[in-house]
Amino acid sequence: MKVITRFAPSPTGHLHLGGARTAIFNWLFTRHYQGKFYLRIEDTDTLRSRQEYTDSILASMNWLGLDWDDEPVYQSQRFDLYNQYVDRLLESGHAYWCSCSPEEVEKMREEARAKGEKPKYNGCCRERGLRPSPGNPEKMVVRLRAPQTGVTVLNDMVKGEVVFNNSELDDMVLRRPDGAPTYNMAVVVDDIEMGMTHVIRGDDHVSNTPKQILIYQALGADLPVFGHVPMILGPDKQKLSKRHGATAVIDYEKEGLLPEALVNYLTLLGWSHGNDEFFTLEQLVKEFANGKLNPSPSAFDPEKLAWLNHEHMKTRTAQDLADLTVPFIKDLGLPVPGNLTALVEMLRERAPTLKDLAAAMTFMLVNADELEYDPKALEKVLSPESRQYISALQSRFSELSSFDESSLHEELHGYVEANGLKFKQVGPPLRVALVGALTGPDLCRIMSLLGKEQTLARLTRFQQS
Ligand code: GLU
Repeated sequence: MKVITRFAPSPTGHLHLGGARTAIFNWLFTRHYQGKFYLRIEDTDTLRSRQEYTDSILASMNWLGLDWDDEPVYQSQRFDLYNQYVDRLLESGHAYWCSCSPEEVEKMREEARAKGEKPKYNGCCRERGLRPSPGNPEKMVVRLRAPQTGVTVLNDMVKGEVVFNNSELDDMVLRRPDGAPTYNMAVVVDDIEMGMTHVIRGDDHVSNTPKQILIYQALGADLPVFGHVPMILGPDKQKLSKRHGATAVIDYEKEGLLPEALVNYLTLLGWSHGNDEFFTLEQLVKEFANGKLNPSPSAFDPEKLAWLNHEHMKTRTAQDLADLTVPFIKDLGLPVPGNLTALVEMLRERAPTLKDLAAAMTFMLVNADELEYDPKALEKVLSPESRQYISALQSRFSELSSFDESSLHEELHGYVEANGLKFKQVGPPLRVALVGALTGPDLCRIMSLLGKEQTLARLTRFQQS
């Protein structure tokens, strides 16, 4: 099947989760069918559009691994093209000039409302055959001569058949008095020009679709296949918005999520493939057409996202995770150690995100005097005896010529046995001395990775506590 799709963000903010999911669906669908996926920046709203948001959206797309074909198209650079299409509609009689002022149109809408009808423009200039006078052209708009009876049918990939009564639709404005195209006009021209075969977008656009279909029909152009995916809801089942917390892709990048995990999770919010949940990007591309786009909305579940992220972290090599964790370590103001990969190996099981991984490393990266003791843990293990055990271990460890895990293990257990002690008398104070807490990875592994000097410094500090 020939497939050409696009993602068409308006650069009025960072890429949010709903937009990202739309981009992902179009991208997966296209890559599955080996078609073309284009990016179109819908920046006709010059007051709200900003270059920094375009840059941020492109950066988030790159981060998610969603590549696009050719250069992005900017609507703000294509007004001439849109006007050529408006002219075509005027020439063919599918559009007409209208000189009604916004106030007059508002009055017509009120009159319709008062009669219990759908508020709309009453078609007053339809048959007037107005032409802009050369001296004063900008006062008029161009409107579509829309059918007033019958129905417009949307055959939606996700929603099935949706029928709109044409009597409810307006003779919509296609060109504003300043010569700028309206939103729906620009979208249709671009989708025709760019050869779109499929338009997958959020169902907040579903009310635009019959209007767009009428423009296609007036232009005699083939319709793309439309697919409107339901909005993402917050955990309270209301439309996901800022009040639910982080909604921008960039926030999740900063939180240390892996892009493939976010792509996997967002795909599951609206698409399913049996009960499967974990998908790599390659698997999603392969399976996308075999799954189902769901017509009912799904709620965003941060815990499930965290779980999926941890699952994806498991599939990355320690070296990969080490590289990805570096910026998070720097953010914490900590030094990046030479043995970072080994630290990742030791701690990765305990950290569901890259940021958590960096945080979990803190105790390994600070100096002995900066290590934070959990006060409760310290209170539990601190006693004249425990100080003595730590002091004895310190002298034993200081004699070691090789500070590797197995030598440390032998030394530690040798000390416990030789003195008729139980490990639970020695292990917890040693752990607090090294970690500052009562939980953590294997003690000998910690010590070998800290190295002799840092280990001994921590044992000294414990005895002075
Ligand atoms: N620019 C629109 C938006 O950001 C998308 C329009 C479309 O996909 O047709 O919501």
